[in-house]
Amino acid sequence: MKIIDGKVISAQVKEEVKEKTAKLKAEKGIEVCLAVILVGEDPASQVYVRNKKKACEYVGFKSLSYELPGDTSQEELLELIDKLNKDDSVHGILVQMPVPKQIDEKTVIDAISPEKDVDGFHPMNVGALCIGEPGFVSCTPAGIIQLLKRSDIDINGKECVIVGRSNIVGKPMALLMLRENATVTVAHSRTKDLAEVCRRADILIAAVGKAKMITEDYVKDGAVVIDVGINRNAETNKLCGDVDYDNVAPKCSAITPVPGGVGPMTIAMLMNNCLESALRKAGE
Ligand code: NAP
Repeated sequence: MKIIDGKVISAQVKEEVKEKTAKLKAEKGIEVCLAVILVGEDPASQVYVRNKKKACEYVGFKSLSYELPGDTSQEELLELIDKLNKDDSVHGILVQMPVPKQIDEKTVIDAISPEKDVDGFHPMNVGALCIGEPGFVSCTPAGIIQLLKRSDIDINGKECVIVGRSNIVGKPMALLMLRENATVTVAHSRTKDLAEVCRRADILIAAVGKAKMITEDYVKDGAVVIDVGINRNAETNKLCGDVDYDNVAPKCSAITPVPGGVGPMTIAMLMNNCLESALRKAGE
């Protein structure tokens, strides 16, 4: 059984981004720039934003940080997005979700220019993914593809079951696995006989948000199991995934741990998307 190490693979991705960022600066004088907007003081969001800024620093991006008060109006936020859309020196714009309730998430996502939507949430980018055109892909599913490929796991022709159908993980994951020629099933809360459906999978991807829900009954012998879930274990207060790791790992050919699996890939792919945006703008 192989443990897929997201820390090692995300470090590889970041190292590659760092090298290309330095090259872009040296050869064309372009400094890659990511603008991160946080509205309000949600502690989890503050940690995410801090980690994104740290990653920018590491790979050599300029990062612009906008920390707006919790009572910021939608109009004020849209004005800032508009200003950043028009600023040629900014390559990526990210609004940390969730936003406070006076602001409509969809309006915000739609307002970000698709060329700078490094989160890959804009309908133009989702549509591009759907029809196989270039665009930005949501970072967590894009990171999972990198985890699989860089662990030499063959996707072509494999049965893939994804549990979860959210816009940011489950659905784009299904489209990416389809692009890689897997046979894809998307399961969700209304799926009947979920364990039986999951047991079909050569590659099982859990993106549910329910601690340790996937037990050995859901897993075929020799399957690859990717755990996207980030949950807090009520008893131990430690982070745990959607997969009951100790119970499932002995049956798998490969598995991602939580923490240290999918999680670190998300920020690495965000850096990759932002570099990609700068390269496209530079005509590369
Ligand atoms: P979400 O929007 O809440 O979606 C959860 C999905 O799971 C829904 O499609 C839901 O089905 C399905 N589901 C819920 N209960 C189920 C059940 N009992 N059986 C089968 N399916 C069930 O969550 P998300 O944003 O996709 O995130 C999922 C998990 O991944 C969370 O733990 C989140 O923290 C984590 N996450 C991690 C990263 C990372 O970087 N590692 C990034 C994003 C998310 P319905 O559609 O029928 O309601």
